[in-house]
Amino acid sequence: MSNTVYNPFESAQQQFDKVAALLELDSGTRELLRQPMQEIHFTIPVKMDDGSTKVFKAFRIRHNDARGPAKGGIRFHPHETADTVRALSMWMTWKCAVVDIPLGGGKGGVICDPQTLSLGEQERLCRGYVRQIFTQLGPNQDVPAPDVMTNAQHMLWMLDEYETITNGRYPAMITGKPVGMGGSLGRREATGYGVVYVLKNLLREMSIPIESTTASLQGFGNVGEYAARMYTKLGGKIIAVSCWNQADAKSYTFRKMDGCDIGQLASIKDSFGGIDKAKALELGYEVLPGEEWIKQEVDILIPAALENQITPAVFPDVSKKVKILCEAANGPTTPDCDPLIRERGITVLPDFLTNAGGVTCSYFEQVQGSMNYFWDIDEVFEKLEFCMTKAFKAVYKLAVEKNLYMRDAAYTIAINRVAEAVKLRGWA
Ligand code: NAD
Repeated sequence: MSNTVYNPFESAQQQFDKVAALLELDSGTRELLRQPMQEIHFTIPVKMDDGSTKVFKAFRIRHNDARGPAKGGIRFHPHETADTVRALSMWMTWKCAVVDIPLGGGKGGVICDPQTLSLGEQERLCRGYVRQIFTQLGPNQDVPAPDVMTNAQHMLWMLDEYETITNGRYPAMITGKPVGMGGSLGRREATGYGVVYVLKNLLREMSIPIESTTASLQGFGNVGEYAARMYTKLGGKIIAVSCWNQADAKSYTFRKMDGCDIGQLASIKDSFGGIDKAKALELGYEVLPGEEWIKQEVDILIPAALENQITPAVFPDVSKKVKILCEAANGPTTPDCDPLIRERGITVLPDFLTNAGGVTCSYFEQVQGSMNYFWDIDEVFEKLEFCMTKAFKAVYKLAVEKNLYMRDAAYTIAINRVAEAVKLRGWA
């Protein structure tokens, strides 16, 4: 194992710089787009159940809003850093641009472990987040959403706090709300399903029937579970799923060579995407070390957990059978691994295209909320598949025509769109 420490923001900048050079962007635009426009670093004092006060560090970072209000999730994670949030805000800008929705890029985070907080403490943390920065949030400024370890309930507490302070009703201030409280049907499934809509299109281009493929998955949270559900529904077979075990403070891989039953695994997972080890053993799963997921002899690897998982140190463990790296998480691959992946002839479905289904459905949620008219679930999925397919086709076509790595093709389209908006506004 290498001891290289990866900084996601440096990775995001390296990816940007490479394509900015290819596009011959002028220096002003480059300078503007390679860093966030605005950063807020703040603290949130929370009254704990035992009467003490705990102070949490938090961030809200706006990378770019030339194409529309900033959009991006809020993560709760014990290892959250400003640089992770910077990187994620930048990737949000490219994500909204590649699927061509009129939104910019932002991201938020709180350094905390919600798994150790009571519901009351989580509620006070959510309300505190909004209280500290509500002047910078809003439907026309910056619109948060759920991300790692945050959910619809957290979003509703945040909305309620915002509406209490501002004395109005602003459903488009936040997305990922519960259905019936301004949320869109299909938001829960959207990111994972979107991943598979893109994968399905790639397999079609590669003339590989999805029913003949196998996959290994890292992460069984919101994205991983729904990607797995759609992939297996279309006939694919998942043989391994890796996730974090809070009690043991390490990850495990759950394997079933004749195919995991995704509904069954979902029924034994906790609300943070951890699978119950004892129950999995009872159900006949092999329980292997966490890193085993990447070593499986499958056609498709689907990282759906966290960033910096596919590195040159672990890449030699990737089976020669793997044909597709389907990036469902944000930033799962480090830039120094891209050349190795390309050399091996593995096709990459780049993260900010592949997992854009979530933000696309968040955009649908805003549209429906503004009309005060909500679509049925089939309409949501139909529109989602249309958007994801259109975005994939544009990226794939460019990659083939210009012999570009898929990641570079996606960046080319996204950066061009944002640079154009910046130019039209007269910012550079
Ligand atoms: P989540 O919190 O619901 O689930 C995370 C999963 O990863 C859990 O199953 C957890 O056990 C697992 N995990 C954490 N650390 C791990 C480790 N070291 N090894 C193996 N598994 C580990 O999060 P999510 O919403 O599913 O997000 C997953 C990824 O997708 C993140 O990169 C996130 O930024 C990205 N993403 C999420 C959305 C969304 O709509 N939720 C949208 C776009 C991108």
